[in-house]
Amino acid sequence: MSDKVITPVAHATMRYFPETGAEMTVGGVPLSRLAARVGSTPFYAYDRSAMSARVAELRATLPKGLGISFAMKANPMPAVVHHMAGLLDGLDVASAGELMVALDSGMSPERITFAGPGKTDAELHRAVASGILVNLESFREVAVLRQASQALGLPARVAVRVNPDFDLKSSGMKMGGGPKQFGVDAEEVPQLLARIGEAGLAFEGFHIYAGSQNLNAAQVVEAQIKSYELALRLAADAPSPVLHLNLGGGFGIPYFPGDKHLDLIPIGDNLSALLARAAVEMPQAHLSIELGRYLVGESGVYVCKVIDRKVSRGHTYLVTDGGLHHHLAASGNFGQVIRKNYPVRLGSRGVGPDTELESVSVVGPLCTPLDLLGDRCRLPHAEPGDLVVVCQSGAYGPSASPQRFLGHPEVLEVLV
Ligand SMILES: *Cc1c(COP(=O)(O)O)cnc(C)c1O
Repeated sequence: MSDKVITPVAHATMRYFPETGAEMTVGGVPLSRLAARVGSTPFYAYDRSAMSARVAELRATLPKGLGISFAMKANPMPAVVHHMAGLLDGLDVASAGELMVALDSGMSPERITFAGPGKTDAELHRAVASGILVNLESFREVAVLRQASQALGLPARVAVRVNPDFDLKSSGMKMGGGPKQFGVDAEEVPQLLARIGEAGLAFEGFHIYAGSQNLNAAQVVEAQIKSYELALRLAADAPSPVLHLNLGGGFGIPYFPGDKHLDLIPIGDNLSALLARAAVEMPQAHLSIELGRYLVGESGVYVCKVIDRKVSRGHTYLVTDGGLHHHLAASGNFGQVIRKNYPVRLGSRGVGPDTELESVSVVGPLCTPLDLLGDRCRLPHAEPGDLVVVCQSGAYGPSASPQRFLGHPEVLEVLV
């Protein structure tokens, strides 16, 4: 007998992995065949045509002339970075380690930016040697860059990362406004600009990043307008014209039941208006945004295998070989306040109109109740050997998970 129920709050439709009622495919390859090709589970599989489609959608909706950069920390797999480098206008790195991958990708150093608090002296020297643009986040960085520039006989290219006097409302993570470790407080920027001029650094513009994982277009629009206006005010004190204005990003993707896809149309309209203003008010400035999860998050899945099926006092558990050590975010332990499920599917079999579903919890092999990939998911009947898939997993996967925890093997990654 079917115990199918109407789930009150559903996950948004997956853009690149539509439910077809059949076995899931990634990049056209059926999942079981891909698993055989990879050789073992668990693994992350990224679909390069989905990533290309995503960039094409953005280009079609956002104004021509707006730069789009990839924030590499969302997915630093070298093959992914290389693919994105061929599609986009820039890469944003947050460490010297990421910088090396970015340079290897073939992206021109001219178009690589380096943001992040706590850049070491060594990292700043490497940045100058590389010829990339450093988003300055403290007065100390001015002194270190001056010294690096003199030692290397090369100009230090800098933009100022501003901690704005506002935040991005309803963001998953606020990264600007109030006291923050990121950037330099807007009210101190005039003094920093004077210091940059005295140090003889090559001032190129501003970077304002207000928050992440936002699904509310009106809030993104408001933050972009405020960021633009703040930069315009600060430009009055700059030692030279603004060449680059990075308005941040924060575009979110739907992870949880009830989340909706972000509406890009008003964001595109607003950016067109800002580009038109900039043409008059900051004529040399090239405007850009930087995105991480929005570019790659929906293009990737995490695939693990059912090891055991257990019933404990009436509740069914699918125990898999994957878990929070590979996918901290899906377990609910990467910045969530209330744990909610990522979209979880049975990869080996799809769900058709007549498929019987059962309520199961998908857990991992770790000895902690936090190792939960899906709490009471509605899935077709699964047995050991079946593949379980966590969707929306193309960003903040392996590199954002505690892989050494409990000594299981590292997760594999494949770009198809
Ligand atoms: C983390 C980060 C990003 C990317 O955030 P997403 O939510 O993945 O888009 C972009 N810029 C900066 C400065 C960041 O710290």
